[in-house]
Amino acid sequence: MTFEQARGCVREKLAGERRRPGVEEAGLREAAGRVLAAQVAADRDYPPVARAMRDGYAIRAADVPGTLRVTGEVRAGQTFAGQVGPGEAVEIMTGAPVPAGADAVVMVEHTRREGSAVVIEEAVKAGEAINPQGCEARLGETVIEAGRRIGFAEIAMLAAVGVTRVPVYARPRVAIVATGDEVVEVSEMPRTDQVRNSNAYSLAAQVERCGGVAEILPVARDEWAATRALIERGLEADLLLLSGGVSAGKYDIVERVLAELGAEFYFDRVKVQPGQPLVFGRVKEKLFFGLPGNPASTMVTFEVFARAAVEVLGGESEPSLRLLWTRLGAKFRHKPGLTRFLPARIEAGGERVTPVGWKGSGDMAALARANAFLVAEPERECWEEGDWIRVLPR
Ligand code: AMP
Ligand code: MG
Repeated sequence: MTFEQARGCVREKLAGERRRPGVEEAGLREAAGRVLAAQVAADRDYPPVARAMRDGYAIRAADVPGTLRVTGEVRAGQTFAGQVGPGEAVEIMTGAPVPAGADAVVMVEHTRREGSAVVIEEAVKAGEAINPQGCEARLGETVIEAGRRIGFAEIAMLAAVGVTRVPVYARPRVAIVATGDEVVEVSEMPRTDQVRNSNAYSLAAQVERCGGVAEILPVARDEWAATRALIERGLEADLLLLSGGVSAGKYDIVERVLAELGAEFYFDRVKVQPGQPLVFGRVKEKLFFGLPGNPASTMVTFEVFARAAVEVLGGESEPSLRLLWTRLGAKFRHKPGLTRFLPARIEAGGERVTPVGWKGSGDMAALARANAFLVAEPERECWEEGDWIRVLPR
């Protein structure tokens, strides 16, 4: 499968996912980053009355240009008791209710005060600098849909409508099983033929960043019984992530063990690099991903494929794949045929991206120097400095 086909396949299988996460309640301060489990409606009209959008004078549009008599003032948090009659103006502050009779607000910068009068030299349209009642949202109207990840803007909306206890979906539990005879605990001193288990920890960080609860299981040795036992344990979670053991090597047994457990495979190879051998399927009603073991492969394939599963199992209605466009800071070429995700640095506030030199999918030092992956499309070979290219920020 190509990258796009595999993405489409993951989307399709996730759309058919029947299990709905449980619902919990979170305080407003704890709700950021969670997924909203029920739609939120406006508790009144927004704004509840017509409000001034500027500091200035509430007037009748038909009266200007002209010189108007200032009959009073209204500040935010107050309501003007009287009316704005013909030839009259009321001094008004941003956010204050527009007095009855007025149909426009003229910015103070466009006025000249002369004692108890105000001179306005330009015409204004009715409605100028006024937000009419209910123009942002009507009472009862949905302001946030269920299934939306709660960010700071959603927090503001929840606060505005007075929601202090927020219904959110339970976080999905994600089991992480690293495989490999050569993989040792992070606290151990690896022999020269061993590596520390960095994948379980990078995956856990990625899972938790998109709202999952990561459970790191013991490392599965490249041996049938141990691998099978750990896969079965991992299937108690909502989603199973495996790292390593899915290539064509003699001891890459993950796929075969999954098959023995009755797995259905949706794909087992994708034309991406890093990460070509990449397994996605379902076994015992749970989705699983077998991610290739090289650290960059594990990270990239999680980000572009498995992350969407964590999000959907967490109740999110629109899983993300945040590919952005920016310009290349240096010329760049790759061998066409695969969609490549290469370590790169987004610089100058996002205005350009520059590839970071690296020595292949195991080069974690290059990944740590980078802050993004540059996405090289499979059909193209060369890019010049300044060309547009897609990036996956991280
Ligand atoms: P595999 O996909 O099992 O063939 O693994 C490919 C390579 O990735 C191995 O040779 C290791 O160097 C590396 N690797 C595998 N698993 C891990 C892990 N859990 N943490 C760090 N590196 C790993
Ligand atoms: Mg291995």
